[in-house]
Amino acid sequence: MTNKVPITVAYGDGIGPEIMTACLQILEAAGAELDIETIKVGRDVFLSGNTSGIEPNAWDSLKRTGVFYKAPITTPQGSGYKSINVTMRKTLGLYANVRPVRSYYPFVETKHLAVDIVIVRENEEDLYAGIEHRQTAEVYQTLKLITRPGSERICRYAFEYAKRNNRHKVTCFTKDNIMKMTDGLFHKVFDEVAAEYPDIENEHMIIDIGAAKIANRPELFDVIVTSNLYGDIVSDIVAELSGSVGLAGSANIGVHTSMFEAVHGSAPDIAGQGIGNPSGLLLAGVMMLIHIGQAKIAEKIHNAWLKTIEDGIHTRDIFRPGESKIRANTEGFTLALIERLGQRPLSLKTVKYSADSNMPLAIEGRMVKHGKKELVGVDMFLDWEMNENGKTTRDPNQLADSLVNLGGDGLTLQMISNRGLKVWPDVPEDAFCADHWRCRFIAPEGSTINHSAIIHLLERVHAAGFDFIKTENLYKFDGEPGFSLGQGQ
Ligand code: NAD
Repeated sequence: MTNKVPITVAYGDGIGPEIMTACLQILEAAGAELDIETIKVGRDVFLSGNTSGIEPNAWDSLKRTGVFYKAPITTPQGSGYKSINVTMRKTLGLYANVRPVRSYYPFVETKHLAVDIVIVRENEEDLYAGIEHRQTAEVYQTLKLITRPGSERICRYAFEYAKRNNRHKVTCFTKDNIMKMTDGLFHKVFDEVAAEYPDIENEHMIIDIGAAKIANRPELFDVIVTSNLYGDIVSDIVAELSGSVGLAGSANIGVHTSMFEAVHGSAPDIAGQGIGNPSGLLLAGVMMLIHIGQAKIAEKIHNAWLKTIEDGIHTRDIFRPGESKIRANTEGFTLALIERLGQRPLSLKTVKYSADSNMPLAIEGRMVKHGKKELVGVDMFLDWEMNENGKTTRDPNQLADSLVNLGGDGLTLQMISNRGLKVWPDVPEDAFCADHWRCRFIAPEGSTINHSAIIHLLERVHAAGFDFIKTENLYKFDGEPGFSLGQGQ
């Protein structure tokens, strides 16, 4: 019987094949028990006319193994090619992106001496749903979707990761001072989950000050959990702090499948020269070994890697004359590391992994119990301006004059806002109004309406010659309004 764990490997493009070969050589020399299936993703697959960049039979392999070790790929320039990472993330449900970043001072030059941060980024929701519309001549919209199960799953992931990897603090970044409902939910769920982990410190920061603090004092942070867009930006800031883009690896974790890769791209400018730094992909491989239960092999490789860096054996991207000892190519670095398997670093912090230190996996978000949901009104969005005698006006009072008469079936015009700012009643003097209006019709406090009231309202609005571009129903959930007020309301 074999203990080999099946994994799927893609050699990728550019420096991908060179660094993947190096990494697999190191994994094998360290005693990793792997049964490798190879698939093709990337440039050649794109150019053969497959716009997804992934061979159709690759999915079978990924389904079989559930573990994907992926070298960077090149996305051809031009429209029509989809990002493989986005396709993989969505198709395989890779909900957590985990990116550990450390500084290796004084062996690798860096602005900050003591960086040791893990970013846990939500990978599937938020503004990345890609639901965008142009609604008027002037206004475009994208939908930001944050779910409770998605937020709970990623926050729990961050705390589980911290617990299993001896991390002491989890920091949450949101912008809930502005987005009180979406980011507010993420923050609230974070607090709820944090309460279940009393041994781990927790804190919340508004993303802008948090990002500034990372750039200035990264040593204040340990594990950071945040939503998709903020995580995308913050993880690149953090990767820069380590001193080279070639040093960071990342994991994309799903319930059934996980993907491990370097943070950097395919580096076409140095492809074929055998000088790429395999470290980012190797450290992703270390995470993969932990994930598949080969933590001791992971520890052996990681410590040998630290010792190689400490011994001044550096690839071109981190080589510093006078400081580094040997300017190694990919192969030279690989052989030097293999020679050091079993050794530990002397001044950099040794890593320790055990069967308990692993990448948390099958964390399912819990579906929310449905309570009392009452329909109390509607936000109707209009594309509107007045054209009279060749003159265009956008006077909220004029719009309101026409709309107040269209209420009925229990609905009354309560408020009009433009770009979020309340512009009626009480029109602010200096407010610029775009051609996109939110008109809130609402039932009296304590009463509800049904959907037909909205349909009849839309019929009246249509008959009066207005262009309604969308509606949002206003609900109360267990008595709590599920909608924000207009700014200034
Ligand atoms: P890049 O990360 O490939 O390269 C940026 C710079 O860093 C280059 O100068 C490169 O030589 C250097 N560099 C990167 N990795 C290195 C390493 N391991 N060793 C030494 N030097 C290294 O970014 P790019 O040039 O913007 O993108 C190139 C291609 O990679 C594009 O087609 C892009 O779409 C793709 N890409 C793929 C992934 C992925 O597969 N996950 C990620 C990012 C970019």
